[in-house]
Amino acid sequence: MEGCIFCMIASGEVPVPFVYEDGLVVAFNDAEPQAPVHVLVVPRSHHTCLDDGVPADVSAALCAAVPKVAELAGIAASGYRTVINCGPDARQSVQHLHLHVLGGAQMGHGMVTFE
Ligand code: AMP
Repeated sequence: MEGCIFCMIASGEVPVPFVYEDGLVVAFNDAEPQAPVHVLVVPRSHHTCLDDGVPADVSAALCAAVPKVAELAGIAASGYRTVINCGPDARQSVQHLHLHVLGGAQMGHGMVTFE
């Protein structure tokens, strides 16, 4: 999709080192990490979020990439959290579906905070 930063990264138009890639998804470090390890897994195809008719093979590729990213990032054994933000209440800021992989340190007990 024209003007979409994650489309541009996935296509290589904006060069970013990939932590992992396959035919359907790419993974790269978040520009503003919120954990010692913070990787984004992004479909090569443009979908706004999970409610945007995401094909089953793309959904499966997103999930399948997670343990591979965790292994490559060295957090498979220590554990990690995955997050997909959808829409305004979740504060989705990039309107191209992406899955956060967060880890590298012990997290607090609360899963989310509200304003
Ligand atoms: P979300 O709030 O779920 O939409 O998360 C979007 C994430 O993308 C944020 O954590 C940003 O720091 C990250 N981000 C935005 N632009 C870039 C970029 N060019 N490269 C890497 N990460 C980015």
